[in-house]
Amino acid sequence: MRNRPLSPATRVAQALRYLDPDTGAITPPIQPSATYARAPDYTLRDAYMYRRDSNETTDHAEAIIADLEGAADTMLFASGMSAANAVLDALPARAHVVAPDVMYHGILHRMQKLDALGRLGLSFYKTADLAAMQAAIRPGETALVWVETPNNPDWDVTDIKAAAAIVHDAGARLLTDCTGTPPCCTQALALGADISFHSATKYLNGHSDVTAGALSVRDTGDWWESVSDIRKLAGTVLHSFDAFLLIRGMRTLMLRVERATQNALALASHFEGHPLIERVLYPGLSSHPGHEIAKRQTGGLYGGMLSLITAGNERTAIDTARFCELFYPATSLGGVESLIEHRKTVSGEGFRVHPNLLRLSIGIEDADDLIADLEQALSRAAG
Ligand SMILES: *Cc1c(COP(=O)(O)O)cnc(C)c1O
Repeated sequence: MRNRPLSPATRVAQALRYLDPDTGAITPPIQPSATYARAPDYTLRDAYMYRRDSNETTDHAEAIIADLEGAADTMLFASGMSAANAVLDALPARAHVVAPDVMYHGILHRMQKLDALGRLGLSFYKTADLAAMQAAIRPGETALVWVETPNNPDWDVTDIKAAAAIVHDAGARLLTDCTGTPPCCTQALALGADISFHSATKYLNGHSDVTAGALSVRDTGDWWESVSDIRKLAGTVLHSFDAFLLIRGMRTLMLRVERATQNALALASHFEGHPLIERVLYPGLSSHPGHEIAKRQTGGLYGGMLSLITAGNERTAIDTARFCELFYPATSLGGVESLIEHRKTVSGEGFRVHPNLLRLSIGIEDADDLIADLEQALSRAAG
């Protein structure tokens, strides 16, 4: 009947064309059972034995993400952090890991902890700087190179394709954290990443009511089996109820990301050159140093994450966040509602962040309402 492949937008909106053959239901069910009874001959009736291993609802959410990613397989975890930990736990003892110097603070903190315990060796490169990445890699010895693009909270852009060539030349694996631009924007695996990591808490779910982490891979194998074992034995599989919410959230992924991008572009353009703003960090702006790579890597869907460096001092920045009436003064990102945070307060000591940096997660509200709210907060903070 069809003579052309369906677009990802269509497939994700229909939850992979879900249809219950017995009832005609078009919404995938939630399977809450913790355990599964065996058949009279004592074999398993289906693929399932115990929910800590896997369950139907989580499997369905994984199939949707694998489809979006063009992945051989996807695994969902109870949070982005548990997914990141599974990757780090699956590394051989004292493996060498290369990571960006500015990245999601939780993962950076965890890597530093494992380094201090002697579980892994850690080297850093200046985020998005490929020459620095290459210099940090030890060919034949480095097991894993971590890329976060756009990175949090500066939104610098790393060229994934170029990074993959460098990493693979050295015999290492490339993991990308593209949480800020979900797989409908950035096809990390097609660009050469071996593992695509996403905090599904953010854009994939999109409604600030689930924590989840996704790992997707181009190739499965022994290594992937050991990640799966870690998920089982650490008990970090995504709960079926959260998987159901995630499936529902993902149905509107394309709409949400398109609208968030439009809003973020409007905001970034409005505040670029504003007298109370020193700098706007957003890859969608043509003045951004990573703009051309971002355009290529996201197809123009830059997402809704941007940061503002306010004029004045740290107090002015904190006051701006405090005085917003529409933006919620909360951490996290990728939800339908806009959030603002003074990043230095949230990430704490030990992380490199500009003291005047406000991280904004732009939602799907009316762009003019958001701009007006920031305008009033900025003038009030400037006194
Ligand atoms: C939130 C986030 C994580 C961690 O994910 P959780 O779901 O909060 O555990 C990792 N990387 C990035 C870029 C994030 O924004």
